[in-house]
Amino acid sequence: MSAVLPFLVLLLVVAVAAYHRWSLAVFTAVAGAGLVLVGLTGVAPVATIVAGSLLAVVALPLLITPIRQNLITAPLLKFYTKILPPLSETEKTALEAGTVGFEGELFSGAPKWADLLAQPKPTLTAEEQAFLDGPVEEVCKMTNDWETTHVHADLEPQVWDYLKKNKFFGMIIPKEYGGLGFSALAHHKVIQKLASISATLSSTVGVPNSLGPAELLLHYGTEDQKRHYLPRLADGREIPCFALTGPTAGSDATSLPDFGIVCEGDWNGAKVLGVKLTFDKRYITLAPVATVIGLAFRLYDPNKLLGDDADRGITLALIPRETPGLSVGRRHFPLNCTFMNGPLHGKEMFLPLSQLIGGEEYIGHGWRMLVECLSVGRAITLPSTSSGAAKLAAAATGAYSRIRKQFGLSIGRFEGVEEALARIAGNTYAAAALSQATAAAVDRGEKPAVPSAIAKYHATEMAREVGKDAMDVHGGKGVILGPSNYLGRGWQAAPISITVEGANIMTRSLMIFGQGAIRCHPWVLKEMQAATHPDPAVRLREFDTNLFGHIGFAISNAVRSLWMGMTFAAFGSAPGDDYTKRFYRRLNRYSANLALVADTSMLTLGGKLKFKEKLSGRLGDVLSQLYIASAMLKRYEDEGRPASEQPLLAWAFHDSVFKIENALSGALRNYPIRPVGWLLWLLVFPFGRRAQAPSDRLGRRAAALLMSPSDARDRLVSGVFLTPCENNPAGRVNAALAKVILAEPVERKFMKAVKGGEIAALDYAAQLAEAVQKGLITGEERAQLEELRRLTWDAISVDDFDHEDLVAASLYRGAKSGDTRRAA
Ligand SMILES: Cc1cc2nc3c(=O)[nH]c(=O)nc-3n(C[C@H](O)[C@H](O)[C@H](O)COP(=O)(O)OP(=O)(O)OC[C@H]3O[C@@H](n4cnc5c(N)ncnc54)[C@H](O)[C@@H]3O)c2cc1C
Repeated sequence: MSAVLPFLVLLLVVAVAAYHRWSLAVFTAVAGAGLVLVGLTGVAPVATIVAGSLLAVVALPLLITPIRQNLITAPLLKFYTKILPPLSETEKTALEAGTVGFEGELFSGAPKWADLLAQPKPTLTAEEQAFLDGPVEEVCKMTNDWETTHVHADLEPQVWDYLKKNKFFGMIIPKEYGGLGFSALAHHKVIQKLASISATLSSTVGVPNSLGPAELLLHYGTEDQKRHYLPRLADGREIPCFALTGPTAGSDATSLPDFGIVCEGDWNGAKVLGVKLTFDKRYITLAPVATVIGLAFRLYDPNKLLGDDADRGITLALIPRETPGLSVGRRHFPLNCTFMNGPLHGKEMFLPLSQLIGGEEYIGHGWRMLVECLSVGRAITLPSTSSGAAKLAAAATGAYSRIRKQFGLSIGRFEGVEEALARIAGNTYAAAALSQATAAAVDRGEKPAVPSAIAKYHATEMAREVGKDAMDVHGGKGVILGPSNYLGRGWQAAPISITVEGANIMTRSLMIFGQGAIRCHPWVLKEMQAATHPDPAVRLREFDTNLFGHIGFAISNAVRSLWMGMTFAAFGSAPGDDYTKRFYRRLNRYSANLALVADTSMLTLGGKLKFKEKLSGRLGDVLSQLYIASAMLKRYEDEGRPASEQPLLAWAFHDSVFKIENALSGALRNYPIRPVGWLLWLLVFPFGRRAQAPSDRLGRRAAALLMSPSDARDRLVSGVFLTPCENNPAGRVNAALAKVILAEPVERKFMKAVKGGEIAALDYAAQLAEAVQKGLITGEERAQLEELRRLTWDAISVDDFDHEDLVAASLYRGAKSGDTRRAA
């Protein structure tokens, strides 16, 4: 038995060193010292010598740099260069654009939580807050989504004017160019609030502030272009759109067939060098009303007027609407949402080179320009739209579930409805934390390529899930469209958010992990760069450093995965309070799991990994859920660790880790190389899967939170338009909640008297009169019940229409919709 002692000591030091990521020198010193101590006890001299020799044989060649580099690294470098998957130009551009923030820590297997928690709490300036309380509130009051979508098929003219006058289209344009110069956080909050009243409104404001002419000009425009266009875009004299997509180039936008030929042509009466453009674009938001069109096309110079290259690559231009040869104005009809969207065509239309974004200098750099700017807009427009829609649905559905009664009970009291409410509450909490986190990353100066893809995909999916549950809870009230319906149009519009700015299936299965694995990994990108360094000496030296860093990292993640799997991540230092410490520990475990599986996949599958979309989709889910859970924990800290928010945090956290284990288990069970999958399973789930979906008890607490006013509920739904005015039925339902709850005891007393036969009248008004007369309720209580009745009818009413009002042609002829509301 004593003969195994030295080996046990060695193994223990290996495990501790790997877990804590000691350097090889420290490991060798500690292991050596341990073996010397064992030797001094004299229990197993031969075994100690064997263990010591083993340590020397393995560690010494690795510690002596020339031996390591020439005997080990050099052959490995040769092999690596052979198997390194070739990166296309598009992939290279995508990898080089953007920065790495906390998502890099999540890929490290041992996240530095202090870095996350040290990030400043996102806050608005007084000016931004005033804009939200003033013009944003005002335009929400002015917008009637039913009139917009059903009657005018457009925002009303006064809304357009108000948006332009108050510079809603210039939020991202700096003040020096006449814009509002808002932070990303303010931009996020504005879109979130607008989305809660009308998807048409938020899309109309979202697009000019996202990837398009303004953003591109700010980064790449010539000074003349900036001075001319930016002030005009800021105050709405120019309405922009950006046209990339065409019939044959959708997700694969780089395959665009639209082209421009360099030639001479007439421009403002003079002969100038320019481009003759032919293009066919579709789905372009704001195109029907755009006055300046950003266009992506491939530039050819067959006569070599600009240089030696005939194919100059993807290039971006700005086309004034009045340019001859441009055909614009017809509309698409995206799922009953009536923001402006339509096709664009151009046939041999001439533009001078001065209309190319950035001028001649940026010819051929169009794809890089788009990818570099994409993450900023993508981090805000759709995540904020989604969190706004989810918050509104949560507020209205919580209130509705309390107000609407069936079988003598508020429907929210039934367990089936409670389940849906819990999902609404948890998903809204997660979507809000996620969308705020990506906006905050932009304000820290990041170009969050991977987080913006995570936020785009998950916030839109969560909003769709919330929309589905909210529709189900509302029953017929959600289905019947009309001015009283605050859910139906949003539900119809959900697939639009799913499709635009990178369709969700592709975003999940190709982009999140595909980019995350290489970009966020602490060693892979450095290894790839080192392996292609032109100087052989530098190549060997840098590859050596990164390779051995990577090997140590991989061993550490295997040990950490196994240890934390065996101990259920119950130990180890973690930040947070008594409630959240265990959450951080669990995320440490899954971070190590992700790093281990990602590394193994890159090693065993190499270039084939990018075609294994099911595997990369699942690993993307792990990374995403780690990111979402971190964003929620950060929010909890920023809010001052409010105990009242714990049910929401816990529900959403358990949902996240349940999804993480689902994704890991799916990845390993279906691993393309079966024995590798089995081995990984042992390291990741040594005692099997343990994470459970949020419990029913937790669900009950989360659901209850939606059905009563509280500070936690207010924070959950804060930042959306809940003013109870004529055009905002959801705001009215939400505002009714407190009054309905106050009246509940009186209602119970009254109903008991009715059911007990103490009141003979059948009609409600007569019943109330009789109850007062018999002294069963007071006059004041009667007024309270009348108010309750009015609020309830307002909440449950739906609309009906004359046949003519639903016939599109009759609307076209100018028929009026009139007052369409009827009592249910
Ligand atoms: C309402 C609306 C507004 C829009 N606004 C604009 C705009 O202003 N400007 C603009 O240029 N474009 C705009 N678009 C276009 C939008 O970005 C595209 O619709 C989107 O890129 C998807 O292209 P597609 O519709 O041709 O779908 P396809 O590319 O045909 O994709 C179909 C499906 O295949 C999946 N898929 C494709 N490739 C892969 C892959 N490699 N791996 C896994 N799945 C894959 C997609 O995820 C999707 O589910 C808009 C679209 C809509 C509907």
